[in-house]
Amino acid sequence: MGRKLTGKVVIATHNPGKLKEMRELLRPHGIETISAGDLGLDEPIETGTSFAENAKLKAAAAANASHLPALADDSGLTVEALGGEPGIYSARWAGEKKDFAHAMKTVEEKLKLKKATTPERRRGAFIAALCLAWPDGEIATFEGRVDGRIVWPPRGDQGFGYDPIFLADGFNRTFGEMSAEEKHGLPPRGEGLSHRARAFLKLAESCLD
Ligand code: IMP
Repeated sequence: MGRKLTGKVVIATHNPGKLKEMRELLRPHGIETISAGDLGLDEPIETGTSFAENAKLKAAAAANASHLPALADDSGLTVEALGGEPGIYSARWAGEKKDFAHAMKTVEEKLKLKKATTPERRRGAFIAALCLAWPDGEIATFEGRVDGRIVWPPRGDQGFGYDPIFLADGFNRTFGEMSAEEKHGLPPRGEGLSHRARAFLKLAESCLD
């Protein structure tokens, strides 16, 4: 049992897709949220070498600056045949224009170069580290992962980022074709489907009532 989160939390992200999902996950727990963007907080440079390190960096910076508890997510897509790429560089593959059509195409082109055409050669996973930081320096980190494979062409216009090319194991529709509720897959519907929802369930068990 970890330290309980009550009242207001800063969501330490400037990514609208993540912000929407993190708010959806917190809403049933009666936690008030304010985003880093609303508070005019800067985005720290992600110098960490893992999802957990980068999540801690973002959460601690927001908690320090706001004097409120802060929740950050660092996440990404990791593709086996590409040696784990894009991994912690998932956002950067979209460039300054945040062009995810381009980022998804890059994944596909790299898979083609590796002659990764069969489903077994196109294995990948989404990974998320959620970090909750308190202004006094206490920190708790939770990780979630969902395995699946990369499909081409992209399918669906829901979600964000790489959702249209990710097919979770056991499903025949990509995350881009799923509603937010399906992608979260929270109880009582399921036991958590997306990497973010799976990390969030661990956080909820430890830090939420
Ligand atoms: P960062 O955590 O800010 O470094 O960015 C993570 C990047 O990974 C996002 O910009 C997305 O491109 C990708 N990503 C993380 N989670 C998801 C997801 O749930 N769906 C699709 N793409 C995601």
